[in-house]
Amino acid sequence: MESERTKAACHGSGMRGLCAFRPSSTTRHTSMTAIRSGLRAPAGALLGLSLLACRVEPAPAGSAGALPDDLMGAGRTRVVLLGTGTPNADPERMGPAVAIVVNGAAYLIDAGPGIVRRAAQAARNGVDALRVENLDAVFLTHLHSDHTLGLPDLIFTPWVLERTAPLRVFGPSGTRAMTEHLLSAYEQDIRIRIDGLEPANHTGWQVDAREIVPGLVHQDENVRVTAFPVRHASWPTAFGYRFDTADRTIVVSGDAAPSESIIEQCQGCDVLVHEVYSESGFARRPDVWQRYHASAHTSTRELGDIATRARPKLLLLYHQLFWGTTEEDLVAEVSNHWNGLVASGKDLSVY
Ligand SMILES: [Zn+2]
Ligand SMILES: [Zn+2]
Repeated sequence: MESERTKAACHGSGMRGLCAFRPSSTTRHTSMTAIRSGLRAPAGALLGLSLLACRVEPAPAGSAGALPDDLMGAGRTRVVLLGTGTPNADPERMGPAVAIVVNGAAYLIDAGPGIVRRAAQAARNGVDALRVENLDAVFLTHLHSDHTLGLPDLIFTPWVLERTAPLRVFGPSGTRAMTEHLLSAYEQDIRIRIDGLEPANHTGWQVDAREIVPGLVHQDENVRVTAFPVRHASWPTAFGYRFDTADRTIVVSGDAAPSESIIEQCQGCDVLVHEVYSESGFARRPDVWQRYHASAHTSTRELGDIATRARPKLLLLYHQLFWGTTEEDLVAEVSNHWNGLVASGKDLSVY
């Protein structure tokens, strides 16, 4: 099988990086075409970057190895990665933030630093739902700073840019106190904008904070959002989320050590957005950090095993901890334990 592996450089035409394929020779062109077409926005505009590293295993009988259209954007629901980073201050990767976009509405998961600028960038690329004044709902997985440092930005910047709706913030216990403290911290700014010469509205700075428990936490005409608990080191509560829309089911892990709940929630889902760390990079970490990461996060090997049982149509890596490895290494490490499609996400990738 190894001799069949084909590597195809994907430079140009809006794509960057390297795609690793292992299809049959007759399906290679089809796969490339499918990936390219998947980078197009609903209106047909090319959306920035996307699959830096992807891998197509021989497809199940009957599907000829091409990426199914519904994986690559033919349906209405999109996953937009606004930030794929970690606490590491990688200038290419903002803090963790994912947007589920459906029928012109955007639902954010986590608010890592840079979220508002990245949303503005996605809007400029053609995802209208992510225009800053439209950002009015965020689902926090947990309260780690790398996932919440963008929260004050998300509260205040859209308001300054004339959002009138209060920001809805769903999250674990402690979410309300965090937002109240943020509003206190910016008390002078709020007062000066409202009472001074700036034509600020009186509602857009407010926060509707909702502390949730596992189960259905939000439902509207576009989406049903289910929160479920995941394991994350010492955090008493950390959530993953499942989004069910008319055309797709998307599961987002948040920060999680291997968690049965993720497998249960996915079960053949369209996209599993999952955090990951490199198993080979881990071996070079100091003992004290190894102990932490093993209880807080998921290795490439563990994720391969999770995907094998969860059976997502696409496994999308984010919150990647590389520790000296490359995206290609990360994808290869996962693929040693998972025979399906895996992509290493980058900021502004759209799926
Ligand atoms: Zn994190
Ligand atoms: Zn965390």
